[in-house]
Amino acid sequence: MRHYSKEEWTKYVKNELDHDVREDYENHLYTCDQCLDIYIQAVDEVEGALPVIENESAFTDLIMAQIARNEPPARTERKGVKKANKPFYQSAIFHYSIAAAMTILLMSTGVFQSITHYTESVQMPSFQEKRTSVTEGIVDKTFAWIDSLEKKSKEANK
Ligand SMILES: [Zn+2]
Repeated sequence: MRHYSKEEWTKYVKNELDHDVREDYENHLYTCDQCLDIYIQAVDEVEGALPVIENESAFTDLIMAQIARNEPPARTERKGVKKANKPFYQSAIFHYSIAAAMTILLMSTGVFQSITHYTESVQMPSFQEKRTSVTEGIVDKTFAWIDSLEKKSKEANK
């Protein structure tokens, strides 16, 4: 199996390859962990070198910078800040707060426990497995999400 070099993956990330060639790269990426690592490095470097090339990431950086500036959220000058920026319900901190509030609500109202009781009463191995994987999935996703928020926040503070 032929592997692709860092330079080749950088070209792929920068979208400098023909459509057919891109497909070869993608097919290889699905089957090769080694190249996946190189690909991720290339993505990191391209995004680090060209922070404004993607509107999406520039937008995220802007939001995270604003959150860093506005900590803690309940500050008195929020009114003035709010006027100049996007509506509060469109900001990332809003969605973050909602998710945190939902998690606390679900835990305090015993929804997670009732899910556990329900699946335990069914007494089927497949249900047991599903319950574990769903719970793990939620926990993993939440942690991954918080990690990425923290990472972005740190980068914005640099
Ligand atoms: Zn490879």
